[in-house]
Amino acid sequence: MTLEGIDRVAVLGAGSMGHGIAEVAAIAGYEVTMRDIDQEVVDDGYDRIRWSLEKLADRLDEPTAAVLDRIETTTDLESAVADADLVVEAAPESLELKRDLFDDLEEATTAETLLATNTSSLPITEIAATVDAPERVLGLHFFNPPVKMDLVEVISGAETSDAAIERGVDWVESIDKTPIRVRKDVRGFVVNSIVGPFCGEPAWMVSNGDATVRQADAAMVHRRGYPMGPFELADMTGIDVGYHVRQEGDADIPPVMAEKVQSGDLGRKSGAGYYDYEDEGVTYERGDGEGFDTLRVEARMIDRAAFLVGEDVATPAAIDTGVRLGLGFPEGICRRADEIGLETVLEKLETLAAETGADRFEPHPTLESLVADGKTGTEAGEGFYEYDDGPDS
Ligand code: NAD
Repeated sequence: MTLEGIDRVAVLGAGSMGHGIAEVAAIAGYEVTMRDIDQEVVDDGYDRIRWSLEKLADRLDEPTAAVLDRIETTTDLESAVADADLVVEAAPESLELKRDLFDDLEEATTAETLLATNTSSLPITEIAATVDAPERVLGLHFFNPPVKMDLVEVISGAETSDAAIERGVDWVESIDKTPIRVRKDVRGFVVNSIVGPFCGEPAWMVSNGDATVRQADAAMVHRRGYPMGPFELADMTGIDVGYHVRQEGDADIPPVMAEKVQSGDLGRKSGAGYYDYEDEGVTYERGDGEGFDTLRVEARMIDRAAFLVGEDVATPAAIDTGVRLGLGFPEGICRRADEIGLETVLEKLETLAAETGADRFEPHPTLESLVADGKTGTEAGEGFYEYDDGPDS
């Protein structure tokens, strides 16, 4: 069902994300205008929507033609956004480009139009700063492909109004997706904040000779239930992607990751990464995971979750929904932390900090205070969550 007050949605960009966002909005009943800078690209995006709708035909409430009829395409920015109640920008990931675009948007829209960016990693606050009324700018971070992925992170920039976030949340629900609120636009928002150590810590372990690639992947998948191993995931998303995110965030880069980027072995897209895709590809087996320290990786993800909770970025429930829907984790990381026991997690981090001297093992104060308060998880009756009726509730 469409949301009152939002009839027309403009999507800027007809690429991987833009065409998918336009498609889900049109399926939900919105009038959509999809804009790109080049007619050929817009046409290509429209063809991809048609192709996808035909695949989905059995699950639609109406003929695909009716959905397609709600989508207009254009290369003209002004006409694309003039009557839009919501604009979702899905243009390339460049701060300069997005700021120029939002500058133009300010001119071409009314003050009531909600302006959203689908950026994965740029600060919403900096994109919004170019607009006179940054209260109406928010992040709507879809996952790829939008048609299949249920999650949308609804992100507040420093100036975003509560009303804009409420409308964003309601709109996401109206297109049958699950929103999570990200109250501050910290680097990586929620989901990519957690995936950082999931891929990063095993890369440190391999770099230091503490583990092998196959051992890490086999252990995380077969012993801990993750849908993909950290190296398998890095090969799929592109090793250079994680590398650049770390570089931009001034974070130390595990040597094995830097070596792969330098040698051009970026993952599946280049034919080789941590695995060789021109040879046998991903090859780990269940038994390969013996002896891998899974707690070391999970402790770092849990510490990141403690940071998100402690800094009031997201609730444990939002984080858990995010990692389940965004990453396919078998259970939320906060829930898992409570099961492991937060004192065990804290002790692991403290031991690693003492042994290595590395800053990344310094526990966040939120984790320390939960443990100090006896809120150590399911067994204690309270941890990230409260367990009213004891551990089995
Ligand atoms: P893409 O390169 O596939 O598509 C971007 C499109 O924007 C291109 O077709 C380009 O021609 C067009 N474009 C360039 N300037 C424009 C302008 N001024 N107005 C309108 N369109 C313009 O990129 P993508 O993968 O769809 O990513 C788009 C955004 O979504 C980025 O900010 C990215 O970080 C984010 N994102 C991507 C993914 C992903 O997995 N691909 C996931 C979540 C978020």
